[in-house]
Amino acid sequence: MTEHDDLFDRLWTGAAPMEEWTRTVSGGAIKPVADGVVAIHTGYFFGNAAAIRTNVGLVLVDSGSRETASQTLAALRRWDDSPVHTVIYTHGHIDHSWGARLLDQEADARSTARPRIIAHRNVLYRFERYDATHGLNSLVMGRQFNQPGYVFPDGHRRPDEVYDDQLALTIGGVRIELAHGRGETDDATFVWLPEQRVLVSGDFVIWAFPNAGNPRKVQRFAPDWAATLRRMQTLNAEVLIPGHGPAVSGEARVSQILADGAQVLESLTRQTLERLNAGLSLNEILHSVAAPANLLAKPYLLPKYDDPEFVVRNIWHLFAGWFDGNPAGLKPAPTAELASELAALAGGADRLAQRAASLAAEGRIRLAAHLAELAGSAAPHDRAIQTTRSKVYEKCGSTETSLIGKAIYAVFQREAETLAAS
Ligand SMILES: [Zn+2]
Repeated sequence: MTEHDDLFDRLWTGAAPMEEWTRTVSGGAIKPVADGVVAIHTGYFFGNAAAIRTNVGLVLVDSGSRETASQTLAALRRWDDSPVHTVIYTHGHIDHSWGARLLDQEADARSTARPRIIAHRNVLYRFERYDATHGLNSLVMGRQFNQPGYVFPDGHRRPDEVYDDQLALTIGGVRIELAHGRGETDDATFVWLPEQRVLVSGDFVIWAFPNAGNPRKVQRFAPDWAATLRRMQTLNAEVLIPGHGPAVSGEARVSQILADGAQVLESLTRQTLERLNAGLSLNEILHSVAAPANLLAKPYLLPKYDDPEFVVRNIWHLFAGWFDGNPAGLKPAPTAELASELAALAGGADRLAQRAASLAAEGRIRLAAHLAELAGSAAPHDRAIQTTRSKVYEKCGSTETSLIGKAIYAVFQREAETLAAS
């Protein structure tokens, strides 16, 4: 058994953290998975790529993140120096599509043809949306990854060819089948190599709880995501190259990671729909739906990036729109007015803040956050109140498991600290 296989076994059982795998691939690593097929890794948070040798050049599935695409390309070139004939985007997210511009630059420098880029039709609409919402995306991504000053890329490399439901290609003698499904995005493609029995899933598999609830992103599609994982299961793939994390080898393991991902999304969808149909409010649903604990404990379904509670919200939104069932929220008063009114009733904004601090000390952080926020809205320039507010969000972040949740709390903790110091 190779060292790498040993690490994989420990990742699979949860004995090794994903950071250990990231260390082994950082700088760019090639992992052969079948004859003429490799996975290219640069670390957990950076999208994987896959490369396929053909008689007319290389086919790439995805092209790497802005941060590491040059490593992706360098690793590819250590393996094979042939021209890149075709690039398939599994979806238009920048951690998968950004690197295409490097491939264009390389082709120009070598005076060879630029690669043909193929994607689902909705990638075109995504890039139009990115152009229309550049400021929003910079803000949202900066908050999601807790990177103040983050600037979202522009000049997205558009696909040259798009398809709708499925597309079967033969490129340089290699059969390559593309199929569309909705999941994290509406523009997703999974790629199947029937001769090698290799499945390239894109972000349908990410070695973490499915990112189907992201608070500030456009609609995600948990039920469709589950259905697409079930379709992938019917392929009986021998190897799965996921969007993030190590490749999975062996039919049984591939089937299990697909089935477990489907099952947890099916469960959340079923529970949410039952309650929607029974007329419960969003708040009641959030506090009564839970992901099955045995699935949440799987090393490849840990809620370390997204949070199942956010996914429940997104399922609500998919079926039921934005109104959460609380009539006071249908046409709300300005937040500062409501906060001032409640602060006056409580005997002052500082009373709200004091109660927030004691609730936080008792571990009742959800209630503490409500009161701290009301206190801060009623008296935004009160330094003591802002200090309490920052401590409450620090506590919220320390008990949060998801990267997105932690980052959002950290942003508001920092905002309160700045106000407290001003
Ligand atoms: Zn990704």
